[in-house]
Amino acid sequence: MVIVMRFETLCLHADKNIKDEWGTLSMPICQSATFVHKGVDVESEYSYSRLSNPTRRHLENTVASLEGGYAAYAFSTGMTAINVAMMLIKPGEHVIATDDLYGGALRLFRKVNERNGIEFDFVDTSDINNVEKLIKKNTKLIYLETPSNPLMQVTDIKRIVELAHKNNILVYVDNTFLTPYYQKPIELGVDIVVHSGTKYLGGHNDTLAGFVVAKTKELGEEILFYSKTIGGQLSPFDSFLIERGIKTLPIRMDRINDNAYKIANYLRTEPKIKKIYYVGFDDFKGHEIIIKQSKGYGGMISIEVESEELAKKILKDVKIFQYAESLGGVDSLITYPMLQTHADVPLEERNRRGINNRFLRISVGIENVDDLIEDLKQAING
Ligand SMILES: *Cc1c(COP(=O)(O)O)cnc(C)c1O
Repeated sequence: MVIVMRFETLCLHADKNIKDEWGTLSMPICQSATFVHKGVDVESEYSYSRLSNPTRRHLENTVASLEGGYAAYAFSTGMTAINVAMMLIKPGEHVIATDDLYGGALRLFRKVNERNGIEFDFVDTSDINNVEKLIKKNTKLIYLETPSNPLMQVTDIKRIVELAHKNNILVYVDNTFLTPYYQKPIELGVDIVVHSGTKYLGGHNDTLAGFVVAKTKELGEEILFYSKTIGGQLSPFDSFLIERGIKTLPIRMDRINDNAYKIANYLRTEPKIKKIYYVGFDDFKGHEIIIKQSKGYGGMISIEVESEELAKKILKDVKIFQYAESLGGVDSLITYPMLQTHADVPLEERNRRGINNRFLRISVGIENVDDLIEDLKQAING
């Protein structure tokens, strides 16, 4: 009898391709640049590690299985993954992207891809009418981040896919924030999923990684072409670390999800917190879409506090939360987007969107939630 494995089991057993004479349980770190051919006319599975490496392949098979894609490709950072995925778009073609994007993606699109002849429009994709209005003859791609970073705007993936495919347009989703444990863009029709594996997939704030997951064989082969041509693949050691992280993805996400829910509700009781951006609130814009397309809310909360002084005091006084960039790891972090992730966004645009000097972004970790709440309490009021 074949057991159809569920997600938690797939995180450990999706890829059964460890074949070595020792019967190793965990995939060994196959630290080799090249592979010896078995004969002149014999086709070998591996030839050179830029094309493929057993440790990386094992991880790629796992991620492809978790996302429900045809194939996944692992890169040395999320930005390399996004860059490779953008190679499918040619000069003269047009892209519609979520305006509240990860700062690095925005920089790549505006400062590199645009310079190389790709046209962009950035809009709030949570309103599908905004997207529909921008579709042109040369539109090739709709690029989504949902929930967005840091404003937590939620885009209805399925409706965007319907609109896009009717017009022969590809849809990419950056699934970093929710991971396939909660949100499965490919099941909703998306063509390519990208990830910063640095975040929840790796989960320990110790390794950079990125993924491109292709829904179909054709897209997978295109990605593979650019991947082997450009380089930037994930190293065997880092592949091992991300694979190890993924084994505990569901239990980390469960804890993070619970902790974030409790913290967001605690923050609601603090008069000095003026605004909370959290998709888990019933009355948050996009909540209905989140419960439709995601099994969880994730661990990201943005807040606007009453003054710049208080924002700085919180960053200075937190003892368990760390004032550091990044997100998605076991350790709880706080960032100041104005100075960090969104420093490159023009001031006027930042202010218009509410990413001002009172705005903080929290990535909730797996610590005891009462300790985390106590920490915020003393930092806010102490
Ligand atoms: C961090 C991040 C990236 C970039 O990934 P790196 O691994 O830092 O290169 C892309 N998208 C999102 C949503 C991110 O949070």
